[in-house]
Amino acid sequence: MNSHERSRIVQEVNEAGRCSHPVRLNSTQVNVRTGEITSKVLKVACKDRREAVCPACSRTYGIDAWIVAATGINGGKGVSADVVDSPRIFVTMTAPGFGSVHTVRPNGRCVQVPSGASLCDHGWPRACGLRHEEEDRLLGLPICDRCFRYRDAVLWNAHASRLWSVTMLQTRRNLASRLGVPRMDLHRHASVHYLKVAEMQRRGLIHFHALARLDGGELGDATSRGSDLIEAWTDAVREVTLTNKMGRFQWGDILDIQTLGKRDGDARVLASYLAKYVTKTAGEGLELARQFRSRRQIRLSVNNPHLRRMATEAWDLAADADCLHLNAKNHAHTLGYTGHLMTKSRKYSTTLTALRKARSEYRSKCVSGEILTGDFSYAGRGYDDARSELLVDLLVGWERQARSMASSSTSRMGEKR
Ligand SMILES: [Zn+2]
Ligand SMILES: [Zn+2]
Ligand SMILES: [Zn+2]
Repeated sequence: MNSHERSRIVQEVNEAGRCSHPVRLNSTQVNVRTGEITSKVLKVACKDRREAVCPACSRTYGIDAWIVAATGINGGKGVSADVVDSPRIFVTMTAPGFGSVHTVRPNGRCVQVPSGASLCDHGWPRACGLRHEEEDRLLGLPICDRCFRYRDAVLWNAHASRLWSVTMLQTRRNLASRLGVPRMDLHRHASVHYLKVAEMQRRGLIHFHALARLDGGELGDATSRGSDLIEAWTDAVREVTLTNKMGRFQWGDILDIQTLGKRDGDARVLASYLAKYVTKTAGEGLELARQFRSRRQIRLSVNNPHLRRMATEAWDLAADADCLHLNAKNHAHTLGYTGHLMTKSRKYSTTLTALRKARSEYRSKCVSGEILTGDFSYAGRGYDDARSELLVDLLVGWERQARSMASSSTSRMGEKR
């Protein structure tokens, strides 16, 4: 490879933000200041959030998610710094149980059965006496897969988003009655803003983490009413039930609500925690990263037997007359979950779109010194030169190595202290 080729490859990779599968766009660009027009094929980053699909884009997505999460509780990017004086909470809401799965309880043990029959109807022990390590492949698998209610579990995932919306409505209703104001006037006294992230647990069920804050309104200052927000939310989680011909859907017993202190560190840690989830995929690799094209593909590609069964169950729901509107086939890879991974109420903070727009304007300014606008049409995927892909793989590997060396040296320093 000569030096000209080398620099062309490096430039191509850098322009695409080190993306593993850039999108090729035919472009006609106009320089906003000079009016000059240029045509060329652009390689732009795929912007996939999933680490397993594109490490570089996933990292950028995680950083943006971090900014969106942190500014809503700490201020910045258009959110007032005064939000640190508002009551701010971190909420975790979980799915109910659909059958015992191998797990690690706070005491380090798996499933214990206090009394009753020691074997299930299928002849399996109901309890598990093991203490599972973090990487144990048994974690998340049912103790008896014939006892596990797969259909109910997938249907719960399919209703989780709706359950969230109804719960938020009920929280606001409860808050209005606690503050003694009509529901329709609540926004003039207090408003609840949140960012929520859906996490796929190992058992294949969705649970939600949310950062929320309570702001005052034009008629009242609710910022001393943090405990009312917590109680309104807790009551809503306990009260809300969705019922239709597919079943009855409620939250699980585990609800955790923590109040955030005024320290900046709280916001940073929680925002990192949420940002970590948005770059993950269910399962171990790419098997659940994209929509399935056939039932057979699920059988052949998903290694984890429990997640395979969940995905198949979701696929099969599409044939069930009661569940037709769920469009379950399209959500077999998300095990029935139909919602977005990260959503927020409008006034919580800035948006991912705004951050992306600012970055792309900054990049185009860095490349050409000018802001460019123009027409773009899809022309395919990937780099012109296969060696560009090799370079991306190398860079990803180095970066990963550097990060793991940095984190192990930080933890060694922690041990020394
Ligand atoms: Zn990418
Ligand atoms: Zn176990
Ligand atoms: Zn059983």
